[in-house]
Order: sequence, then C-alpha cells, then structure tokens
Amino acid sequence: MAIHTIGDKDIEAVRRASQDLREYFGSRAEELGRPLTYNLITYGCQLNESDSEKLAGMLESFGLIPVDITRNSEHLIPADVVVMNTCAIRENAEDRLFGNLGVYKKFKKDRSVSFIAVCGCMMKIDKNVDRIKKSYPYVDLVFDPQQLHRFPELVRDSLAVKSQRVDIDTIDYLVEDEYIPIKRDRRFRALIPIMYGCNNFCNYCVVPYTRGRERSRNFDCIVEELRSIADSGYREVMLLGQNVNSYKGVDNEGRTRSFADVLDAASSIKEFSRVRFMSSHPKDLSQDVLSLMGERDNIEKHLHLALQSGSDRILKLMNRPYDIEKFLNIADSFRKKVPGGSLTTDIIVGFPGESEADFELTLEAVKKAAFDAAFTFEFSARPGTPAYDYEDKVPAEVVSARFARLLEVQNELAFKSNSALVGKVFEVLTEGISKGDETIYSGRTITNHLVNFKADEEYLKKAGIEGSDDLEGALIPVRIERARPYSVDGVMAGDIIR
Ligand code: SF4
Repeated sequence: MAIHTIGDKDIEAVRRASQDLREYFGSRAEELGRPLTYNLITYGCQLNESDSEKLAGMLESFGLIPVDITRNSEHLIPADVVVMNTCAIRENAEDRLFGNLGVYKKFKKDRSVSFIAVCGCMMKIDKNVDRIKKSYPYVDLVFDPQQLHRFPELVRDSLAVKSQRVDIDTIDYLVEDEYIPIKRDRRFRALIPIMYGCNNFCNYCVVPYTRGRERSRNFDCIVEELRSIADSGYREVMLLGQNVNSYKGVDNEGRTRSFADVLDAASSIKEFSRVRFMSSHPKDLSQDVLSLMGERDNIEKHLHLALQSGSDRILKLMNRPYDIEKFLNIADSFRKKVPGGSLTTDIIVGFPGESEADFELTLEAVKKAAFDAAFTFEFSARPGTPAYDYEDKVPAEVVSARFARLLEVQNELAFKSNSALVGKVFEVLTEGISKGDETIYSGRTITNHLVNFKADEEYLKKAGIEGSDDLEGALIPVRIERARPYSVDGVMAGDIIR
C-alpha cells in the first residue's frame, strides 16, 4: 500500500475535480430542466456519520441537492446520485447493504437513479468488493474510507471511463482535511474527528484493517475548527476517534499534546453548552481527563467505556490489555470525580471460548460497575480478524440465552438509573420532536439520559417559537416525572436557558 502525504497538488486536483463535476451536473440539470439530487445513506458509527457530513458537503459542492432530508434514514428513494456509506462492524450491517443494493437495481434500470457509489469500511474488504463487481455490476464506484478525500476525482473519473472501480493505490490519508467541505447534519451539534484509525487490534474488530493505523490531527487545527464552529452557533461538540484517549497530536510549536489538552481547549470555549467525546479505551483513559470531566460544567458527565467482557481470560483472548480490577477501579474513580455522572458500556456475549463461568463473571462485573446503560451485542465473526478463525465457537442458542440474561440484568440497572432522576429538574439540550408524537420533544441531560418532554405551548407561542426547528439546540429546564427502561418523561419547568 502506498502511503502518501497530502500536499497542495492533491488538494488542487480535488478542487479541479469538484469544479469539473459542478459543470457536468450543471449541464445535466439544464438538459433535464430540474436540479439534480443526491441520496446519502449512512450505516454504522459516529465516525461514519462524520464521514457522511463530508460526503454531503462534497456532493453539494457539485451542485446536487439532497432528496431525503430524514436524518440517518435508510429510505430507498431514487435520486440522481446515490451514495451508500457502509459499516463492517457486524454481519447484519452487511446484509442490509446487499439487500438495499438489490432494490436499487430497479431504479438504475428505469433510470430514476443514474449513479451509485458505495464506500465505507465494508469496501476495504476484498471479498465485499469482489461481490459487488460480480453481482451488482450497476454500481458505478466503490471506494474505501481512506480514499474519502478523493471522492470528487473518483466520481469524475468513474463518469468519464464508465468503469466500476477506479483502481488507485490506497492512500493512508493524512489527517488535515480542512479543505473538504462539510454539510453538518445537526444545527446544534458538530462532530469533530480529532484522530483517525486505531492501533489496538482487538481480535474481533475490523477497524484497524479498514481505517488504518492511528493518526492524530494537529492540535492547533482542531482548536481553530472548534473556535470557528462556536462562532457559527453550534452549542454541542462531539470529539471523535476510535480511541480518543490515545490522541497524540502536535501543536504548531512542535509540542506533543494529549487528549486532556484537547478537552481542556474545547471546554474553555464558553459558547459550548456540551462537550462530548467518543470512544474511550480503558487502557488509555487518564485521571486528568476524569478530573476535567468533574471540574468543567460544560463537559458531559457521561463516560462511555467499553468493558466487552467481565472475564480476564476472555479479555486476553480478545486482546484487550486490561483486567476487570483495573476497569472497576476506573469506574470507581469516575463515580468519585464526576458525582451523579453516568457510565455506559459495550459488551460482547458469546466470544469464542466463553464458558458459563466467564459469562457469570460478566454479569458480576456489570452489577459491580452499575452501568447506566449498555450496548450489548452477540459475537459476530468478522472475516479477516483473528477471532474469525477461533474454533471454540459458542453455540447460537447458548449465546441467545446468555444475551437475554444480560439484558435482564442491564435493563434493571438502566431503570434504576432513570428512576433516580424522577422529581428533579435538569437542563435538557433539545434534539427535536420525539418519534411518533409531534407534541413531545426529546433531548438529553448532561449525563446523556434521554428525556421526552412536553413543552409549554403558551410559553413557546409568546416567545415566537414556531416548531421543532426553532427549539433544536435549545437548553430547557425539564422536571422529570416518570422513568422508563430506556428514557424518562418530563415537562418543561421554566424559561429557555439559551
Ligand atoms: S479499540 Fe479495539 S474495538 Fe475499538 S476500534 Fe480499535 S480495535 Fe476496534
């Protein structure tokens, strides 16, 4: 694989390609007598969402307009250009992509779609690319996450040569990508990747193979971007990386900076009501970060720390270099330094070799850590990872039964965590209308608890607030009245704070 440092020439080439595409799509729009559209479908994690914001920015720089304004939707509606940004973490995400591609065959045939590109982590895996070449020949372009910055060139070249894949050497793109236009998905929240890739090679995970080795962005570039999004009115910032705690960027004076420095810089910007970060690996989380979380009012009082298993033996098999004692010590430090904070986690059930005793250790650890919420997964073997070839697979029915037992324990903990909020008033950062009921708004507390609340319609009318768009990003006091397993219900309890 050729590793290449992006320089002015590359940036210029991308700009030229964008300009060519603006002209190309502009003349197509004139011929058709209507603007050309795009539909961008995103699967997977927040890093994929962040990549999609860049893809949307580039698509709009070509003069295309979005056809589907539903966030993160998988609406398979036709558009002139369709881009699917895929995820390789779990097998079911792959199944969804291939199912959806089958549906697009009809659209391509009746010409309601003229160009289809598939990108994201799945496209870094040869088996998937081969399958698309063989079974989905109507897909025009395939590229992987490390080629994202070259999207304009890839589209232009693909349109010109009409080949399915433009075979260029993979470029391990360097991290300063400020020249890529971004169309942010939320009006109040900005996703800011501070690093790319991962060096950890957990034995079940494809990320180090699909997103490459860890590389941190320049510290001063991050600070500049933070300042600029604060000036543009964003109230929440999410610092992103596969393992933000191992951030090691340099500043313009050549000094190495840590994640605590980034968190310090972000939370010093007073315009931000919320500073969040994702994800953290237990081996790298520092006490400095926990101290800052406790001290700064605008840093989210929520730590997502992946446990994965409560058995030291399984953690070793997973290549996760910590033991349960260390994990529980971190949980303890977090609870002491961030009183009232919430701790959430990821857990894999049924990793190869997991015995009943190992699983019981997981249940025990979950109870001891008292997680406020957890993302629980049944083990999904990913081709190309060491765990794919492990022989000691746990039978599917055993995995399902264990999964149900874990869910029961965790749901009880989550309900307890939500119940502790009842009767109190919290500042809720409003995200929009609750799904399924237009009179109910939803948002999050600074501890990341999901709140559905009734707004004071009289107050909103007097304040000239007309609908959910006006409330998106507003900080509203809400009294919590009822706990549910995954959320709480409340009512507006005072004037909008900001
Ligand atoms: S830390 Fe492990 S699970 Fe997370 S992205 Fe890296 S390899 Fe994957």
